[in-house]
Amino acid sequence: MSTPPGQAPGLAEEEAGRRLREEGPNELPASRPRSLLSLLRQVVFEPMFLLLVVCGGIYMMLGDRREALMLLAFVFVVMGITFVQERRTERSLDALRDLSSPRALVLRSGRARRIPGRELVRGDIVLLAEGDRVPADIRLCESSNLMVDESMLTGESAPVAKHAGAPEPAAATDSEVFSGTLVTQGTGRGEVVATGELSALGKIGKSLAALGSESTPIQAETRRIVKFVALAGMALAALLALAYGLLRGDWLRALLAGLTLAMAVIPEELPVVLTLFLGLGAWRLSRENVLARNIPAVELLGATTVLCVDKTGTLTTNHMVVRKLWCEDAEYSVADAGNALFPETFHGLLEYAVLASHRRAFDPMETAITEAGQALLADTEHLHRDWTLVDDYPLSRQMLAMSRVWQSPDMSERMIAAKGAPEAIADLCHLDAAHNGRIAEQVARMAAGGLRVIGVARAVFESHELPESQHDFDFRFLGLVGLEDPVRADVPAAIAECRAAGIRVVMITGDHPATAQSIARQAGLSANGGLMTGPELALLDDEALETRLEQTDIFCRVRPEHKLRLVRAFRARGEVVAMTGDGVNDAPALKAAHIGVAMGARGTDVAREAASLVLLKDDFSSLVTAVRYGRRIFANLRKAIVFVVAVHVPIVGLSILPVIFGWPLVLMPAHILFLQLIIDPSCSLVFEAEEQEQDAMRGKPRRPDDRLFDRAVLARGLLQGSGLLVLLCAVYAWSRHETLSDEIARAMSFTVLVLSNIGLIYVNRSWDASLWQARRRANRYFNWMALLAAGLLAIVLATPEIARLFSFALPPVGMLSVAIGSALLGTLWFDAVTSQMRRRAADPPAVHRRKR
Ligand code: ADP
Ligand code: MG
Repeated sequence: MSTPPGQAPGLAEEEAGRRLREEGPNELPASRPRSLLSLLRQVVFEPMFLLLVVCGGIYMMLGDRREALMLLAFVFVVMGITFVQERRTERSLDALRDLSSPRALVLRSGRARRIPGRELVRGDIVLLAEGDRVPADIRLCESSNLMVDESMLTGESAPVAKHAGAPEPAAATDSEVFSGTLVTQGTGRGEVVATGELSALGKIGKSLAALGSESTPIQAETRRIVKFVALAGMALAALLALAYGLLRGDWLRALLAGLTLAMAVIPEELPVVLTLFLGLGAWRLSRENVLARNIPAVELLGATTVLCVDKTGTLTTNHMVVRKLWCEDAEYSVADAGNALFPETFHGLLEYAVLASHRRAFDPMETAITEAGQALLADTEHLHRDWTLVDDYPLSRQMLAMSRVWQSPDMSERMIAAKGAPEAIADLCHLDAAHNGRIAEQVARMAAGGLRVIGVARAVFESHELPESQHDFDFRFLGLVGLEDPVRADVPAAIAECRAAGIRVVMITGDHPATAQSIARQAGLSANGGLMTGPELALLDDEALETRLEQTDIFCRVRPEHKLRLVRAFRARGEVVAMTGDGVNDAPALKAAHIGVAMGARGTDVAREAASLVLLKDDFSSLVTAVRYGRRIFANLRKAIVFVVAVHVPIVGLSILPVIFGWPLVLMPAHILFLQLIIDPSCSLVFEAEEQEQDAMRGKPRRPDDRLFDRAVLARGLLQGSGLLVLLCAVYAWSRHETLSDEIARAMSFTVLVLSNIGLIYVNRSWDASLWQARRRANRYFNWMALLAAGLLAIVLATPEIARLFSFALPPVGMLSVAIGSALLGTLWFDAVTSQMRRRAADPPAVHRRKR
């Protein structure tokens, strides 16, 4: 039931601002920022930290105080990196939480505005609609069929009805809705009585901010690989120490050699790289107006094979305009510029279409109808501002029609206005078959032009006892209204891009088949493909549905629960499904999809909470952008991994070979740290920032079970790295032979190693481009990283104190140019490997192709 709407204009903006300052934001105290102590605890358990400390201890025992101090200095580098990493992740999560937190529709200074829930203050007038999380404790002053799920406060799972009631606080709970609860049906309007900690939610101290943190296959895989490599590395390190000790009898130095190797091979950077790529990926997406609520989903996006998208609002603009009116053989087209004369025949039709809409409409369709009414019926007696709403029968899943019951001041009867899907309206009017047929024909004609068509009917009701169902009114059919909702301008291009990328786009709508088909054609969807209606779908069993999916791209007159079945059926076929949704009833389907996508602007809080992605601009092309980023992240991760594998080959080789051949040690902890802590992290930045390959959206999606570390990646990395190892050995042997100095030979091989790293990154930036072409594409980070690496190397070589720590001696200039030449030679080798593998990848064996 409703009470007459209070016309309060809401708080003035200034007043609201003052209260916000004085009473604080409407939020619960977040968990405390992490203390320094907990950060310290985390750092202490880093393997790198432990290795550093032990190595430092050994240097102390050996009496090399300087080396010990240097390692200590690196401890701070480790701490710094961990700290920055943590802060960054935490801050980006905070930002996401903010953006995905409930928002509220408030009346401020007489205008309705959507604001973040945290900015609500006591006294604000809030409008509530189906699917909203109630943003604060609110006393209702107007409500219509309002049902609220209070389970999170009371544990009671059945929704409870709420009515605007007497204002005295004694009878409160029935007329008050509480912060954190969920509107499952109806609409309401009320005044905020408590915010933040003072609200019901604040009192029980629960927090809603729960960001999904499931791990994806890739994270699981990384964890497995890290564990495996770490164990293998430690075994190798132990063997090396043992061999050293047995061969040379110096057990302390043996231990040091072993630990150095362990430091080099423990792949602790991999999880860091993954976190960095996904985190930065989410950040990049947010700049494209796509929010990742579940960060790992970003990466799964790249594997998406099916995009199930809503028609209205996602493929179309959701800005509707009334274009056609039809009543029994007369048709009227509404022109853009407004019409001079609006024929009498259509007055009743439009009048009742307006009466069947909300006065303060949320729905774009109702907005369009109200606007048309105001324009065309302006000087007539058909706009009834003095009528009051008595009751309404909302749209339901079973009946795609809604009625509103009105009382006029000068009549005793009630007037009932209904509008809805033409079939539903015809059903309400109990028409005969011939009449039904005529209407259906007309609907098909109007819908074929892409118009959304709705029917309108009226009834008069004498008694005061309103019936349970709309069916019990005696409706008279008035006519049809056709509304235009054009396809978004960028949709056809985005759909073409999907098609080229081997991604299927499936349209889902509650609209009429003919409208759906026409919009599909305009959008460039394979409109010749099959079409299925919700009722048809309901009759099929799972197996039949799965086979029908093959050729069906359009689903119309679908109800939300059908969406869930569709997701399940697609998943059963081995597809990776992204599904868009906005309503309360879409939540289960969004949860069931691999990637649930909610609409930020028109989506309900429930849908956003169930989704892993939120499109702030609601449009299809930002979803395609997200897929593109997903592919880019996966591709760049693989590049980074090739690099990581390739650098480790020479490091491991240079640690082991000297022990076997009885040379002095080449690599020491300082060298490893230089590479691992300074060069490597900057490299992941380079790969993360690398632009997408030109044809990344021209291939099929990767299979969801495709590994990050597959044979191709390993082979590429190992080949590139082995070449580098051979080169380094040659440089080492040659320069040692030339100068008879271990220090110069060590400096030479380290120089070649660092410079080759730059070459290795340069080559792996793109696997598609040949060496001198497309890699010229700018990558700011690459330039910085190259400068940093070369600069630091120069400092180490040229500063005698630091050089001594690294056990270096400065090679003569002529030799240094040999080092540079060798690094160039190495780069040529990396490129040779890349182009060789590119040629092979160009025609992959048939088993690698996805079966469709
Ligand atoms: P879509 O998937 O295109 O958003 P909906 O599920 O919102 O479609 O709507 C399905 C059908 O229900 C519409 O084609 C229309 O006939 C009817 N309908 C939707 N909203 C309203 C409304 N506010 N009043 C009357 N009928 C409506
Ligand atoms: Mg809709």
